[in-house]
Amino acid sequence: MSWDLDFTGYGNEELVQLASDIFVASGVVEELGLEPTVVRNFVTVAAGHYLDVPYHNFNHAVHVLHATALMSGTARARALLSPLERLALLLAALCHDLGHDGRSNAFHTNSASELSRTYGGQSAVLEHHHAAIASALLLPPPCRKGGGDVLAALRSPEERAEVLRVVRSAILHTDMTRHFESVRRLADLAAAAGRLEDAADGRGPIVSGGAAHTSDAVGLAVAAGHPAAVTSSADADDPGGGSGGSTELGGATAQAPSRLLLEASDRLLLAQALLHAADIGNAVRPFHVNDAISRRVRAEFAALRAEEEALGLPASVPPPLPPLDPDQPQQGAAAAARAELRFLDTFVEPLWERLAGVLPELEPQLRRLRANQERFRRIAEEAAGR
Ligand SMILES: [Zn+2]
Repeated sequence: MSWDLDFTGYGNEELVQLASDIFVASGVVEELGLEPTVVRNFVTVAAGHYLDVPYHNFNHAVHVLHATALMSGTARARALLSPLERLALLLAALCHDLGHDGRSNAFHTNSASELSRTYGGQSAVLEHHHAAIASALLLPPPCRKGGGDVLAALRSPEERAEVLRVVRSAILHTDMTRHFESVRRLADLAAAAGRLEDAADGRGPIVSGGAAHTSDAVGLAVAAGHPAAVTSSADADDPGGGSGGSTELGGATAQAPSRLLLEASDRLLLAQALLHAADIGNAVRPFHVNDAISRRVRAEFAALRAEEEALGLPASVPPPLPPLDPDQPQQGAAAAARAELRFLDTFVEPLWERLAGVLPELEPQLRRLRANQERFRRIAEEAAGR
């Protein structure tokens, strides 16, 4: 798997194959004893729930799955998350926009759509819709909506419940209104993860219980079988290190002796942040891939804006870019670059910077994001005649 893979032009069958291969390559299929053919069937069923819209289609879902798999496959993420949590994260990525109709939450609320009535009182209408479909696909056999049981190999109802909990929570956190909260909490998580790593490496003193608990994002290292970490946590005031929250379902700890254990709430925060970062992280990919995807976003926005105007509803997305003037082609490119840059500067770069603090292996993607930002900046400035 590579961040450089360009599959923007893949058809449905190629995408199903790629998504299935991603699950297998991630290692969770083997680690948890899942059946690859059942995984592929699940991917096919999920693909069938994506609609033919310009951007929020199955191609986007596989991009998010691909990015999530690359991030959760880093050594640091594998040390922080259990196999069950990594499986849940991949399922959440695959399912995170199920049934997306290319409209915005504001459109649904403003138009009093059927979905907004279904999820009455919720601002994140679409995210609740995606999560509801995902849950229906992941329920045990008598209640499930259709297709094979991708979680059949799990050993207990508690493991399925845990997967469902992470899937639902991560999908609901793809709502952009949660963005700044995620960025803020990641700073604490980066500090906690760094302390755990230092303790496990024996490089630094692990923060003792009292100090550690000054931040709710700190769990003490109890990395199973790691002498430094075990010694450190045994020295701490609270040898359990919040062990109530660190309990592993299904004995995953025994399979991963180098695990660094954060509290459950922090592992959930990490899963939520990874999915959200993947969802808005197209600009960590090669420039031409990001450009192709951005055109799809603009096409979807333009269609929605036209629909809102036709229905007399308030605009919920930016206006389409001005039509390209053949005599001044750089003007259209500059307008696109400025719009892109605003989004990257405000949302994407701060999130990925914090995330690279938790998962240092993401530094190359952060560098590429910044190079893409610079390229957009140059395009905008050159057109402005600077
Ligand atoms: Zn999405």
